[in-house]
Amino acid sequence: MPEDVSMTRVRLDADLCEGHALCIQLAPEVFDLSDDEVASAAQADGQWDQGTWDNVKSAVDACPRQAISLLNISTKGL
Ligand code: SF4
Repeated sequence: MPEDVSMTRVRLDADLCEGHALCIQLAPEVFDLSDDEVASAAQADGQWDQGTWDNVKSAVDACPRQAISLLNISTKGL
C-alpha cells in the first residue's frame, strides 16, 4: 500500500495494456475493460480501504506489461 494514499493515483498506460484482464480479476472494484479490450482504472480520491489498495498493488505486480503504476501527486515543491 502506498504510504500516503490520499496523494496517490492509479495510472494505467493504455498503449501498453494487452487486455488480458489480470488486473480486473485481482481488483474488479478498480479496473474495468473497455469494448476494445483495453483496461482502465477508477480513481480513488482517498476513498479506498486497505483491502482495495492491497488488491491494486497485487494488480500492479501482476500486470505482464507493467502498464499500471501508482503516482504520488503531492504538490510539494511546486
Ligand atoms: S493486467 Fe495489465 S495488460 Fe492486463 S488488462 Fe490489466 S493493465 Fe492491461
